[in-house]
Amino acid sequence: MRIALIDLDDTLLDYRTEEDNARDAVWSVHLPGIELAVWQRIYDRTKRRLRADGRLPSTAAYTERFRLSVRQARAAGADCPADEAFVRRCEATYWARRDAVTTLLPGAEELLSAVRDQYQEIVLCTVGTTDNQRRRIAAAGLADSFDALRTSEMTGVGKDQWPLFLGPHWRGDAHYLAVSDSYNPDLSSAKRFGMRTAWLRSEATRTRLAAEGLVDVLEPATDFEGEHPAELAALITGDRTGQRLI
Ligand SMILES: [Mg+2]
Repeated sequence: MRIALIDLDDTLLDYRTEEDNARDAVWSVHLPGIELAVWQRIYDRTKRRLRADGRLPSTAAYTERFRLSVRQARAAGADCPADEAFVRRCEATYWARRDAVTTLLPGAEELLSAVRDQYQEIVLCTVGTTDNQRRRIAAAGLADSFDALRTSEMTGVGKDQWPLFLGPHWRGDAHYLAVSDSYNPDLSSAKRFGMRTAWLRSEATRTRLAAEGLVDVLEPATDFEGEHPAELAALITGDRTGQRLI
């Protein structure tokens, strides 16, 4: 049995654009009195801090992100309330904008069909809340593209713990391919569990890692690397190298 495990954000969907857009929409609708750059710093720092605390995305974690960010925005001079109803309105604006701009990355469909040709099962593996991810997948036209969906909300763990994350899709006799833009934890952990790995790493990521001296360490540790989904698709079908991925 061959099973492909595919990441959603920044692998198939353009999460970065979606997220930046939604963050900035909250500022433009709800937060007069502070500069956009100030809001961006507050929001990004809060999000990073909550993640560093080890919180997986959940409905409660999203609300907490806005509760803390709005409080700091007020302290920084935003002319806005900070009560719970206002926090919920900010959150609603955020999700409405994210839904409105959900977009596939160029080449994502090619990548999916290359994987579909060679793997019997495709499991979409994503850190996020199940309802939100289902809605976004549908918005991007991918509702029928997967055999199964696993989310961190369903499993209570991240992809550093693949067997628990996969639940019934973790089979001792299966050959796995993990595809993701996140080396850590998605692919580093996949290697630990004997999976093949395909790393979608942008030029910006590669440049950052090169500056840290990590490219020579990480690239040999993955089976395939591509800058764009289409490049990975070509590797999987063997178009680029003449060497098929499996
Ligand atoms: Mg990702």
